[in-house]
Amino acid sequence: AERALQQSQKLEALGRLTGGIAHEFNNVLQTISSAVQLAKLVPKPEHVVPLMETCIKAVDRATALTSQLSAFGRAQEAKLSTVLLNQQIEEFKGLVSGILPSNIDFKIRFSEVSWPVTVDTLQFELAFLNIVINARDAMPNGGTLSVETCNRHLNEPYQGLPAGDYVCIQITDTGSGMSAEVMAKAFEPFFTTKPVGKGTGLGLAQAYGFARQSHGALALHSVEGQGTMVEFYLPRAAGQPMQAHHARENDERMST
Ligand code: ADP
Repeated sequence: AERALQQSQKLEALGRLTGGIAHEFNNVLQTISSAVQLAKLVPKPEHVVPLMETCIKAVDRATALTSQLSAFGRAQEAKLSTVLLNQQIEEFKGLVSGILPSNIDFKIRFSEVSWPVTVDTLQFELAFLNIVINARDAMPNGGTLSVETCNRHLNEPYQGLPAGDYVCIQITDTGSGMSAEVMAKAFEPFFTTKPVGKGTGLGLAQAYGFARQSHGALALHSVEGQGTMVEFYLPRAAGQPMQAHHARENDERMST
């Protein structure tokens, strides 16, 4: 019965997704079509430039849409590998600093002990980036982005997870936060409060999908006007952990 329920939920999600795609693509095509029609009518050639820019933005949006969608597709055939959490987050660091403007401070704090997790690392990277992009967009006037990893033992079920040992990744921003209305819809595919061309509304849906696919969970905590914390829980995989001082030794060796 549970499997049947899962299947019907999947079908429902798929239906929502394909309906959403058609809608979003129509919007993009409409934008391009009206800009091109206007371009035929404008009296001076320089008036065409802003219309071209509108087209370029629309195409960017379509591209973002398709890359998110193919990520959804890939979710079906996950390429799982077992990696140490802190070492994996360390690999994302460069990407993160690459997309943060200089008015956002980036802090990272690793747990003392790094446990292995079994994940699709591409999906993990995408999920992590999606959350960081949201944090960045929530802080247009600057702020602090903190990433922290920790180890958690759940004595009882939490967020649909069975009791057991988990690692968690907390991504916290000091941005706008979310109203209760936005929080309630945030995970819905294609729900976005961002201007046209900026948001696809698929970021949190992908991150949620990644968490579930990894038998983990994604929790949102947000205070309007103060900031947001997004928390990934992932089950600890079998294997040996690594102590922080080993990691530091390795770093030193690498930099000399
Ligand atoms: P997108 O980023 O393309 O809008 P998401 O699914 O990632 O799509 O996010 C949906 C909405 O949730 C965002 O448009 C925004 O309103 C809200 N949101 C997500 N993350 C944050 C955050 N860190 N701070 C404030 N609002 C957020």
